[in-house]
Amino acid sequence: MPSDDSPQQNRAMSQPITDNTLIRSVACDVCGARMLWTQSVWSDEADPIARAAYRCDNGHVVDPAQTPQCPNCGVHDTVQLASGEFKCSRCSTLFTVPR
Ligand SMILES: [Zn+2]
Ligand SMILES: [Zn+2]
Repeated sequence: MPSDDSPQQNRAMSQPITDNTLIRSVACDVCGARMLWTQSVWSDEADPIARAAYRCDNGHVVDPAQTPQCPNCGVHDTVQLASGEFKCSRCSTLFTVPR
């Protein structure tokens, strides 16, 4: 169906944004399903405002603190290394997150 009227199309200047940027390159570690960056699926008692997080097709949600946003390309497709640094799965940028 035609979808020409998406009101909030936030396109970066030179980066084509596709649905692919919302899919995590690492599968769900519980069930192995693909994980999709989803709005308003994460909350806890200390922070009742629902936040975006990776959620798999079967409803498992990853703590967004484990997938901080890459400072270089802006995706949350990141993994923590044994050293404590995070590495972006898209652009391989290494970065740390202040605790
Ligand atoms: Zn899962
Ligand atoms: Zn990146």
